[in-house]
Amino acid sequence: MSEAIVRAKWIVTGIRDRHTPEVVTDGALVHLNGQVVAVGPFDEIAKQYPDAPVTSFPKHVLLPGFVNSHHHVGLTPLQLGSPDHALELWFASRMSARDVDIYLDTLYSAFEMIASGITTVQHIHGWMRGGFEKVHAASSAVLKAYRTIGMRASYCYAVREQNRLVYEDDAAFCARLPSDIGVPLAEHFRQSALTFDEHMKLYGMLRDENAGQTLTRIQLAPANLHWVTDDGLMSLVERARADQVPLHMHLLETVYQKEYARRRTGTTAVKHLHKLGALGPDMTLGHAVWLTEEDVEIVAHTKTCVCHNCSSNFRLRSGVAPINPLAARGVTIGMGLDEAGINEDRDMLLEMKLALRAHREPGMDPDDVPTAPQVLRMASEHGAKTTAFRGQVGRLDPGMQFDAVAIDFDAATYPFQDSDIPLVDVIVQRATTRHVDTVFVGGDPIYAQGRFKHVDRDKVLGEIAELLSRPRSPEEEKRRWLSQQVFPHVKGFYDTYLDGQPARSPFYGPSSRS
Ligand SMILES: [Zn+2]
Repeated sequence: MSEAIVRAKWIVTGIRDRHTPEVVTDGALVHLNGQVVAVGPFDEIAKQYPDAPVTSFPKHVLLPGFVNSHHHVGLTPLQLGSPDHALELWFASRMSARDVDIYLDTLYSAFEMIASGITTVQHIHGWMRGGFEKVHAASSAVLKAYRTIGMRASYCYAVREQNRLVYEDDAAFCARLPSDIGVPLAEHFRQSALTFDEHMKLYGMLRDENAGQTLTRIQLAPANLHWVTDDGLMSLVERARADQVPLHMHLLETVYQKEYARRRTGTTAVKHLHKLGALGPDMTLGHAVWLTEEDVEIVAHTKTCVCHNCSSNFRLRSGVAPINPLAARGVTIGMGLDEAGINEDRDMLLEMKLALRAHREPGMDPDDVPTAPQVLRMASEHGAKTTAFRGQVGRLDPGMQFDAVAIDFDAATYPFQDSDIPLVDVIVQRATTRHVDTVFVGGDPIYAQGRFKHVDRDKVLGEIAELLSRPRSPEEEKRRWLSQQVFPHVKGFYDTYLDGQPARSPFYGPSSRS
């Protein structure tokens, strides 16, 4: 291979600070073997690389590819029969989901992600029924799907040791149910339980099988505080440090999880993790909605990362995460579409608009609320830092992977855009998936003008439609029945859980001023 040049009207190489993008006007990017070699004004670059072929984007802005830092599934929960309940009830409703071919399912959401400019995903695999072999086969199929379509995936299989449905021991919860529900529920738990040793074995196998892969890497995920023991959590932290891979842990997604942490630890979940020694730059806290002001300080002080799942927090009634206080303290904040995004379509361009607007607290100081460059950095460089590709993607500097999205500025701004509005503000606020022209991963244009280079989208969607047009299997019918039976009992479990405390997140609750 020899050097090639991509020329664009503007190249945004990264974001210097929350007000300042780094932009090269009439820019050129030189790439070789998937990596960025040089970036600069086209006139200068053309002289340095006179023989390099040039691909031109004359009315486009080239940005670092986006990073979806928190993703689980392909077909959305809504598509599979779960409406937007509060998170804990939604867990119960999710038991009824149809079985979907996991390779096709992974491609389904990959199409959506890539079409919105996402080049790297943090795939946090939830759970599978079946034993170790079946889980390993499913994980392998997910990873194969990403490699086939050509996008990067930082993959983890979430470790769950306990409290699989409610914030209570599985056996204790099942025992309090009528036996015609409790017995099949206990069997359901048994079918989806891996032992801790099996989790570690799975991680080790996948890690070794993916060694040397450029598109897929393996990391670790303690699923959430209630799902792991302290011993399990610390084993994962130690393994991650030994292997130098990051960890992603759901934490304090809802007020019920905050209360669970108080009951289990006598303190906050963040203080508990800090005391154990689990926090640090390797750890990303997914959601982190219910932080106290002291928790925010600890997260900042330990350089722990946060993943902001703005759509999901709205949809599942989790609350509003303290993004402004976290950002003010310099915390690395990635952005995750979680299950589906606000519009059911894993659209990072839309998620940026949402994050930009969801935190516009009353007041006049522009430093108090998110800026467009800041949310772009969350969706690129900061998100990248929470994945196993940290330091290699998220910016378009020499030495980084050439993962980028070319957006048609003229189309996004037609018929007019006043030039007083800065470039990145215009792109974040006006560009939609219709304006995504080309998506590069490792220099490979995996998506251009609405077509995927390596996979036939229509064919895959047709296969999914065909498979799901069949009636539910007896096994699926049984799970749907069980989900409906269990649902009111889960609701009952939480009816008294908060003991009269208000379900208001501290940063957006009633004003503390009288
Ligand atoms: Zn999640």
